[in-house]
Amino acid sequence: MAEKIYKVKVIRDLCIGAGSCEVISPKVFKVDEEAKAIILGQGTNPDENGFVMAAKDTAENVIAAAKSCPTFAIIVLDETGKQIWPEL
Ligand code: SF4
Repeated sequence: MAEKIYKVKVIRDLCIGAGSCEVISPKVFKVDEEAKAIILGQGTNPDENGFVMAAKDTAENVIAAAKSCPTFAIIVLDETGKQIWPEL
């Protein structure tokens, strides 16, 4: 599981800048000057739905960061495009 590449998106309107995502996965998430989380150094452009690869950290850690978000602002898709967080 750790080697799979997951896609993530931050819904900026939901983000309140709490920063727990950055604390858990600082290689992937960073709170910007607008107090909204961005996804760092993904090396790819967002897809048509705004998702980018979260290749700089393990899937477990990216999911842990997403689960830490108090407003469910982080969406995580697995390598097949299936949404795994928030659970549907
Ligand atoms: S944990 Fe959620 S609310 Fe906090 S900065 Fe990250 S995305 Fe935004």
